[in-house]
Amino acid sequence: MIEWYDQYARDLPWRISPVFSKKGIKPDPYRVWISEIMLQQTSVKVATPFFLKFIEKWPNILSLHQTSETEVLALWSGLGYYRRARNLKACAEILLREYEGGFPIEEKKLLKLPGIGKYTSAAILTIAFGIPAIVVDGNVERIIARLFGLDGTISKLKPEIRTYMMNVSPSARPGDFAQAMMDLGATICKPLNPECMICPIRDSCKSYKDGTTNIIPRKTKKPIKTFRKGYIYLAVTKSNEIAMIVRPKSGLLGGMMCLPSSEWTEKKYPKNSPPFPGEWVALDQTIRHSFTHFDLELRMMVSSIFSVPNSYILKPFNFSLTEKVPSVMKKALVLGLKYFHF
Ligand code: SF4
Repeated sequence: MIEWYDQYARDLPWRISPVFSKKGIKPDPYRVWISEIMLQQTSVKVATPFFLKFIEKWPNILSLHQTSETEVLALWSGLGYYRRARNLKACAEILLREYEGGFPIEEKKLLKLPGIGKYTSAAILTIAFGIPAIVVDGNVERIIARLFGLDGTISKLKPEIRTYMMNVSPSARPGDFAQAMMDLGATICKPLNPECMICPIRDSCKSYKDGTTNIIPRKTKKPIKTFRKGYIYLAVTKSNEIAMIVRPKSGLLGGMMCLPSSEWTEKKYPKNSPPFPGEWVALDQTIRHSFTHFDLELRMMVSSIFSVPNSYILKPFNFSLTEKVPSVMKKALVLGLKYFHF
């Protein structure tokens, strides 16, 4: 695996090339941390441009600490799972306060930091510091299940996979080994139609020998998504400003700049209660959006207004061109602003 990695490692902006890692040079832990958090629920292809923008704006822990959470959330818009962005901010503060802006190099201490679980702590220890740790993500699970011909769903095989991974992990260049496994899973041992003919571990692979690469690992049934409904309210002032609100920190789209909306309820629409008085008009078209766990349908209400209560923030009607807003809000703005002929 290491020989293969030396030749075919993916060139990723948070990594250092194997040419340097062979000499004992380590990547910047800050970049490793940011990339691992972004990659928790996002593919490399999607995360890379976000990572580059993030690093350009906040190249180190101090600059991240000094910026506001709203700024970080704005940059995060489009990546989803906003809790990750809030955790980064909270974590930066602790790292500065308790670790002089560095990272603890003990799993126990890393696990106490917001947003850092078993996988991320192992990735930071092994990739950024060269400390052997068992890094098991979805790619690694798939490779190990196939390599050893483990029959079962990944959720059932997890403990077994960790043991196998412990047995195959080398003590030399553990970070490169972890990244080699990630690369193999992303480029060759893919979920569908793995490219076994060019795989560096084909000769040892049980499921290749057994012809079971397309059935191992066994698939788990996807949970059925629920369907929620609600109202969303677009109010525009005479000077073409929109009433926006920052959602409460906890919960979906927490801390993000959004249009006011009702609750989002299952089965039937909640009560239509506009957030403040106005001549509210219901639009015929609805907005549909898919979140990970549910699909959403929103009825759009629009109104011209003279003023808004103090808790609302007035934004220019075209602010979403320059500022990032959650995708569902973008859809609502596009639809609602047509009513006002913008
Ligand atoms: S031989 Fe095929 S199934 Fe086995 S590890 Fe390589 S790519 Fe995956």
